[in-house]
Amino acid sequence: MRSYTLIAPAKINLYLEIIGDRADGYHELAMILQSISLADQIDLRAASTQAIRVHCDHPQVLTDKSNLAYRAAELMAAEFPDAYAKYGGVDITITKRIPVAAGLAGGSTNAAAVLVGIDLLWNLGLTQSELEELGAILGSDVPFCVAGGTAIATGRGEQLSTLAGLNNIYIVLAKYRSLEVSTAWAYKTYRASFGSSYIKDKASLTARAEAVHSGGMVKAILHQDVKEIAERLHNDLEKVVLPAYPQVLQLREIFASQENVLGTMMSGSGPSVFALCESKQQAEKVQQGVREAIPDEDLELFVAEFVTHGIKIAS
Ligand code: ATP
Repeated sequence: MRSYTLIAPAKINLYLEIIGDRADGYHELAMILQSISLADQIDLRAASTQAIRVHCDHPQVLTDKSNLAYRAAELMAAEFPDAYAKYGGVDITITKRIPVAAGLAGGSTNAAAVLVGIDLLWNLGLTQSELEELGAILGSDVPFCVAGGTAIATGRGEQLSTLAGLNNIYIVLAKYRSLEVSTAWAYKTYRASFGSSYIKDKASLTARAEAVHSGGMVKAILHQDVKEIAERLHNDLEKVVLPAYPQVLQLREIFASQENVLGTMMSGSGPSVFALCESKQQAEKVQQGVREAIPDEDLELFVAEFVTHGIKIAS
């Protein structure tokens, strides 16, 4: 029986700007996304029947048809019915390391891994851009999770422009295990508070997205200037999440007060918060400092590094 093991990295947002509304109900975004070494493991095994099954070691993750990994397999079966009939179903085992509902694209990266794995399992020979197109059907973050590394993402997040990979940058990542922020709530609240300043006409929307392509954060990335990257971290959603979630605000403040932290920001719609550091040793000191300041067992803390890959085949 054929099987593959895939590594599915989490992502953080180095930059998240909400530019305007879209006719399809999503927001027009300009983001800069970064893959990190904190990753889930996805094991795919050809099943002896046509069934698609998901197993996961995390109690919070449902393994039914709502699971994004399941939906990715279902999409592949629908798109490639002949291969599905020939090769049969698939058993998907998710070993979760990425905190759930954290703004780290945990579900999206699992879905991306299933697309890549089934492509191998069924000998489809899809290109990366074909896999990204399939990913866009499942969710805005999935195409980036296929490709990984560092990228500008515009539109609803699915239009990617890859940047040169960043190396030797470390992060400390923190999330309260029991705290969840609904992504839908964060965007809805942002629209209610700041929607009047959204760019309305298409030409100005495009101009704004292009300005981000040549903006300060992209220049800092091209120069591999970690201090400048840290200064230019930006996330519009902090404007609604920080006032509503004092624990996230407190994390932000504790990170900012640590020696060795170059910059700190919430990732996506939160509630995870990260701090950038220049070395692994410094990141470990920051991790220790935050642990001493918040000795609460509900707080999960990780040290990770930037990586230049998306879904990786381990075996
Ligand atoms: P994003 O950054 O893409 O908005 P997130 O990191 O905030 O995502 P996820 O970890 O993907 O959030 O979880 C969001 C919701 O999706 C949770 O309610 C979770 O139960 C559900 N979910 C579905 N499939 C998965 C999966 N494979 N792994 C984790 N969560 C999943």
